Amino acid sequence: MLLDRKIYLIYSSLSCQKINCQQELSVQQNNIQLFVPSFRVQECLDEIQVCFEKGWTGLGFKTVEFEEAWNKYTGHNHSHFLSSATAGLHLSIKIFKEVYGWEDGDEVISTPITFVSTNHAIRYERLKPVFCDIDQYFCIDPNKLEEKITNKTRAVIFVGLGGSTGQLEEVIAICKRRNIKLILDAAHMAGTRLNGKAPGNLADVTVYSFQAVKNLPTADSGMICFKDPALDVIVRQQAWLGIDKDTFSRSSEGGAYKWLYSVPYLGYKYHGNSIMAAIGLVQLRYLDQDNAYRRQIAYWYDKAFENNPRISRIPMPVGCDSSRHLYQILIDNRDEMMLALNSQGIYPGVHYRDNTEYEMYADCGDCPHAAEVSRHVISLPMHLRLDYADVQRVVEAVTRAVK
Ligand SMILES: *Cc1c(COP(=O)(O)O)cnc(C)c1O
Repeated sequence: MLLDRKIYLIYSSLSCQKINCQQELSVQQNNIQLFVPSFRVQECLDEIQVCFEKGWTGLGFKTVEFEEAWNKYTGHNHSHFLSSATAGLHLSIKIFKEVYGWEDGDEVISTPITFVSTNHAIRYERLKPVFCDIDQYFCIDPNKLEEKITNKTRAVIFVGLGGSTGQLEEVIAICKRRNIKLILDAAHMAGTRLNGKAPGNLADVTVYSFQAVKNLPTADSGMICFKDPALDVIVRQQAWLGIDKDTFSRSSEGGAYKWLYSVPYLGYKYHGNSIMAAIGLVQLRYLDQDNAYRRQIAYWYDKAFENNPRISRIPMPVGCDSSRHLYQILIDNRDEMMLALNSQGIYPGVHYRDNTEYEMYADCGDCPHAAEVSRHVISLPMHLRLDYADVQRVVEAVTRAVK
């Protein structure tokens, strides 16, 4: 499963950029970070230059181009570009609540193993997060889901952790049967495929993140993709203060009444801009190739750890071609390991701390497997500037520290 030599050379040269750049910043050159974004610098600058020359850096123009490119890439019919995935998760809940008449205190089932942004979105709209335990893929366990459903349950938020699809199809089948909406937090899933297709097409709404350390890095932005075309119309208004027509379509239509708009919603300032979209358009061209290199790195880690009884690797669901946002393992001595690796200039992460450990989510339900994972999980460095030697350095340090 080694990549061809040509692709390996491309990524080795990214790793040379790393050295030059770090010397300039006088950062210690041989540190290995968890995440480092890579940009095709000249191509991004060229694309941004077009915005400056045209005099259009805001909503419209490149945001429309990026939405079209994203639809084409994923197979979604409706994508709206936003300032972040957090904004997208909030709007998903807000719009469903308004359109379907949910009430304050209604329940949304979520996972305690996620970035707090997922669960904040529920709380922003005064709904109640109810945590469901996770399975072997660290995603919501369909076998634990039904017991969490009550007559107040309105939606499930499924987080494709690390790019994995987990048991998404089983979870969706339950949601359909119980008449519950499925929100897919696909912050890690740019480029993930399930049986050859973008899994987001299975959900009622899918939200992607293009934040700086995600697989398609811009600086901050995200995409919201509703299945129902009527909700796509609403989200375009809700993300722009609730105004029913954006500036771009007004000024490109012409006509005497282009200043005239109505404000049907108390919306938010959540839309994306053309500078971020310009970067996104360039990064999208390389997403599949970048993810292939991430899978290469994961393969190197897998090979190195496969016969080590002290290291548990996370299985990959059948049919899932993961974006490999993360490479995670479970070990007994996680906190010790963290210190041991830091002392050697290696900086792993934890995805995530069980959210019930945060005061505001302490009452969202006990999830013993999630609590266990939270104590033992570690995310090893995973980014495009790592070369084979870097991965081996991490492998050796991890292997020494588990002994
Ligand atoms: C990063 C992340 C988000 C939020 O993404 P932003 O674009 O930074 O708002 C949401 N959920 C998960 C699982 C994430 O990792």
